[in-house]
Amino acid sequence: MAKTYDSNNIFAKILRGDIPCKKIYEDDTVLAFHDISPQAPSHILVLPKGAYVDMDDFTAKATDAEITGLFRALGNIARAAGLAEGGYRVISNIGVDGGQEVPHLHLHLVGGRKLGRMLQPAE
Ligand code: AMP
Repeated sequence: MAKTYDSNNIFAKILRGDIPCKKIYEDDTVLAFHDISPQAPSHILVLPKGAYVDMDDFTAKATDAEITGLFRALGNIARAAGLAEGGYRVISNIGVDGGQEVPHLHLHLVGGRKLGRMLQPAE
């Protein structure tokens, strides 16, 4: 089922420059900034600039250049943040069951401490 992109979501506003972010990295297809409510010493959000709702939408519709750009940037950002050696976690929440709150695809890049179990019991 095709997903409809809501251009009023908060990350769309950040991408348009309507609201600020603590920017870490930007190129033609990617923007990365600090999460406003960090869950670990390092909690970075890495977004494609294109209007994709989630990873399902992105992997169905994005160009090869956008897909390559997102994942190259993710690795480069993690290394530049000093996370590669100790390790880190990449999370992308998708839809209702995934617990996604902001409907613009983003990868959570979290690290800087031992992160513990990957999944908590369902609420
Ligand atoms: P998700 O549940 O995967 O959609 O995650 C959304 C994330 O966006 C959460 O970790 C929020 O803390 C983060 N967030 C929400 N608003 C902002 C904002 N204005 N700037 C940075 N991060 C934000």
